Amino acid sequence: MESITSNEVAGFAVGALLLAAALATPKVDAFIAREQRRDLKLCMECGGVTRIPCARCKARGTINQNIFSFDDSNKPTTCPACRGRGNFPCPSCCGNKPGSSSSS
Ligand SMILES: [Zn+2]
Ligand SMILES: [Zn+2]
Repeated sequence: MESITSNEVAGFAVGALLLAAALATPKVDAFIAREQRRDLKLCMECGGVTRIPCARCKARGTINQNIFSFDDSNKPTTCPACRGRGNFPCPSCCGNKPGSSSSS
């Protein structure tokens, strides 16, 4: 069969990749997501949502101050990295707005 169109090949490739992503590690899944973002011309950092989840508090806005303590009474404190918001403005989007002249 030589009559396979490039669209069918692409569809098969995407299907295989998605199947692989479903079976493989989240790392691969993240890689696929990045590829999709690039295809859709979305921001590579935030995917178009203009927000980056805080890695320090895992986007919760609070962190456990004494993570090595087994004391159950330790209260979560406001994350100093994101100041309790749980996310940051995307530097790729929000730091590069059209209209704001940046002279470097
Ligand atoms: Zn945070
Ligand atoms: Zn962004």
